[in-house]
Amino acid sequence: MRAELIMKFGGTSLATAESMRRVSAHIRRETRSKLVVVSAVGGVTDLLLEAAAAARAGLDADPFVREVHRRHDEIVDKHGLTPDLITELHQEMSRLLTGVAMLRELSPRTRDAVVSIGERISTRLLSGVLNADGCPARAWDSWDLGLETDENHGQAEPLVRSSPDIRATVDAIDARLTPVVSGFIGRSTQGEITTLGRGGSDFSAALFGAALEVDEIQIWTDVQGILRADPRVVKDARVVPMISFEEAAELSFFGAKVLHPRTVEPAHHKNIPVRVLGTFHVQPDDPTPIASQGTVIDDRAPNETIRALAVRREVQSIHLHSMRMLEAPGFLASVFEILRKHRISVDVIATSEVSVSMTFDRTEGNLRAALEELSAIARVETAPVRSILCMVGTGLRDDTSVLARVFQRLAEHQVPVYVVTQGASRINITLVTDPEHTRVALEVLHQEFFPPS
Ligand code: ADP
Ligand code: ASP
Ligand code: MG
Repeated sequence: MRAELIMKFGGTSLATAESMRRVSAHIRRETRSKLVVVSAVGGVTDLLLEAAAAARAGLDADPFVREVHRRHDEIVDKHGLTPDLITELHQEMSRLLTGVAMLRELSPRTRDAVVSIGERISTRLLSGVLNADGCPARAWDSWDLGLETDENHGQAEPLVRSSPDIRATVDAIDARLTPVVSGFIGRSTQGEITTLGRGGSDFSAALFGAALEVDEIQIWTDVQGILRADPRVVKDARVVPMISFEEAAELSFFGAKVLHPRTVEPAHHKNIPVRVLGTFHVQPDDPTPIASQGTVIDDRAPNETIRALAVRREVQSIHLHSMRMLEAPGFLASVFEILRKHRISVDVIATSEVSVSMTFDRTEGNLRAALEELSAIARVETAPVRSILCMVGTGLRDDTSVLARVFQRLAEHQVPVYVVTQGASRINITLVTDPEHTRVALEVLHQEFFPPS
């Protein structure tokens, strides 16, 4: 087959028998040839991780396992599917968890094997539902379609050579079948199961889309598209009709959970538009074309001063002070070398003649060791946990009034700002603030730049 389209469905779109019915309707309505990519059934990834952690700690994993069974069985029962479809995978899960409990050991490799059960089951369930609905479908584990990764368990990197393999395998699939493929998981050259990081099935969808050079990658989720701000904070945030690749990459990197941060990369590389759509907002029987719904990520997006806002929470902020910066041109090089060694990547950085302020993810790398080494070359001041507020828009390049408006509104609400940067691409402004003020800052900036119409 030649796939024209990727349709990726997230966990919340697959959480119940009822939502599976809806997903099946969206797939059957689409007349173009498509490859479907899925996440685990909603909540299952978390349950599997909790089960593994409990087994590792010598605690009872059964409540989590029972809940995994319950969610899957409900779909099997209500759609009249054969339980054999998933029995073996449930057994594999139990065997793995027994091993973890016996050894009291949970390596990243075993954790990936446990968590992969979620996606491996959801592909079988959805293809079962499609077949029952009269749409011939078959489930594939991503590696059987050629997706290979490195061995970095938990955050694996797909190998470039996967692309031609994916293309060759998909080419050979009967065009009358709809392939349903597991997102999020891959297999290493050593033959071990790997995962691409939480939320990674968006990234899988983009990888398959780029390898197959499809015309569009669709990400179906529980909101109607990319919104002007996180809807969990700003209740009345409206949908963004169009956004450029670069803006979408910045937004997802700085915390807009709707897309995994690496989704944009493969799509941008091949210039394939990505459309974000609401599984429960688009009506499968509505004649309105899909092409006019949701958000499309495409470089034809017209300029807007601010396209959207995002927040990244729980960031570590540090300040380095050193008189050595005055005469030592290699100072920053040494700082970055230390961070590289401890696998810490910097999100935001601002420098003056004698000090550097930067932020990074608190969960990344070996922070304590890095700080210790940095103390040898500078006075290190670690700040309490902070949040980063990010404003993205291609029009920022030309609008010089934005910062004045931002500070005016933030000052009115006594929101402290510790660091401000405008990136080299000049399409984003980042502000480092504290967790107590994040919500109000987001609300007032949303109000300022996206007033109710
Ligand atoms: P899925 O299960 O479909 O992958 P996710 O939960 O990973 O869905 O992502 C969708 C969620 O992202 C939304 O429910 C919303 O709460 C959150 N989100 C955060 N920022 C944004 C934003 N700017 N636009 C849309 N959704 C956002
Ligand atoms: N199921 C995985 C997760 O919950 C991947 C995904 O949803 O994209 O992280
Ligand atoms: Mg997601």
